[in-house]
Amino acid sequence: MVQAINNRHGGLVISLDFELNWGVHDTNSYGQYHQNIYGVRQALPRILALFEKYKIHATWATVGLLFAESKAEMAHYLRCIPVKYEKMQYAAYSQLVKVGENEQTDLLHFGQSLIKKIKQTPYQEIGSHTFSHFYCLENGQTESDFCADLHATKMITEGYVPPMKSLVFPRNQVNTQYFKACQEAGFVCYRGNERHSLYAPQPFTKKSRLLGVMKWLDSYVNLTGQHLLMLEEIQQEPFMNIRASAFLRPYCRPLHFFEGFKIKRIKESMETAAKTNTFYHLWWHPHNFGKHIERNLAMLEELLHHYQHLHKRYGFQSYTMYEVATLCQRLHQQQK
Ligand SMILES: [Zn+2]
Repeated sequence: MVQAINNRHGGLVISLDFELNWGVHDTNSYGQYHQNIYGVRQALPRILALFEKYKIHATWATVGLLFAESKAEMAHYLRCIPVKYEKMQYAAYSQLVKVGENEQTDLLHFGQSLIKKIKQTPYQEIGSHTFSHFYCLENGQTESDFCADLHATKMITEGYVPPMKSLVFPRNQVNTQYFKACQEAGFVCYRGNERHSLYAPQPFTKKSRLLGVMKWLDSYVNLTGQHLLMLEEIQQEPFMNIRASAFLRPYCRPLHFFEGFKIKRIKESMETAAKTNTFYHLWWHPHNFGKHIERNLAMLEELLHHYQHLHKRYGFQSYTMYEVATLCQRLHQQQK
């Protein structure tokens, strides 16, 4: 057992929350963020091309609605999820009135052609970001609503992609009460938040502006640590937490001269992970790259180039969330 652990290399874990407008309809007024959402059509294939070039494994936590072929299909599934949030603007079905008939006429709410591109790229895992971008900590929703949402994901993806194993809770609203339901639906792992009070899961309505500023600052200056993950610390039951290390914040023009700090912080964390055989889990949304596409892709390539250097020097590896969960299962079996 000790031998196996000693021979193990650390790795870079990447996950992306793929949601298009379903992830932002309740936080932006209609149209305010469309440039970013439309930009996904350009950015996503180029992210995949970089992943292929650098042999990067990544998990795409995808909103189930993006698999739909038509508005009628979306409506059919949403009728089966009778969620009644206290704030009804959180509900995906409150948006149906704005949805077009299919992907040809509505690039904001449909995503099958993009999912196909992910499927065709080697080493990519398609996981779930719930069916309806479901908020597990908001008032009004219940576990049975969440189970209906899980069921809709299974129905719409069955036969199209392999059974899903990795889940990312929307707005990172991790609800431990729902772990058993996730496990029963076949999920093996989820992405937990960084282990620091700044990142504790909480309802969207309670998020303070100060917290947002602190998180933003933490991306540029090391306030909360590197958040590296060791296999030994991952509990197998009831649901494996492939914890996040950092959000990859997109390029911000007013902060142009500080971008270097952000990249340096990520590179240093990756390097520590490579030297200590631990894992560094970076996540973002494709729509974060939908604006300033060239700059964001250049930032990603710089990070992947650094990964390549660490791979050659320390044997640092690239993993999807489920691949880390599988490593963890093997480790536990060896320890038995
Ligand atoms: Zn989301």
